[in-house]
Amino acid sequence: MNKIEHIGIAVKDLEKSNEIFASLFGKSHYKTEEVESEGVKTSFFQVGSNKIELLEGTNENSPISKFIEKKGEGVHHIAFSVDDILGEVTRLKKEGFVVLNEIPKKGADNKLVVFLHPKSTNGVLIELCQEIM
Ligand code: ZN
Repeated sequence: MNKIEHIGIAVKDLEKSNEIFASLFGKSHYKTEEVESEGVKTSFFQVGSNKIELLEGTNENSPISKFIEKKGEGVHHIAFSVDDILGEVTRLKKEGFVVLNEIPKKGADNKLVVFLHPKSTNGVLIELCQEIM
């Protein structure tokens, strides 16, 4: 596993939150993207060498909408970049981590992504992501 690729924050209203975080960081988001299969709209901020992803659910069945319903807005996941996502899935399963989707899916920002269930990671939703070449 490499560096933290980004931190994902669940928000109710992406437009409003884009303004809040733009004031916070002193610069606007550099892109927005909708991932229809996941029912999310996202925006990305670059802060130094770090990236922040804001996520809004686009329907009530979206994992983001459900998260906010249960826990409210806030930090949703931490994403780590990996070079070999399938190799990491195999390794982490062997270590006993619960993988939510063993077959990587297409996420935002041109990445293949796999999520680990928070119940095996002390309550933190972990995303593994690999750049699609
Ligand atoms: Zn993410």
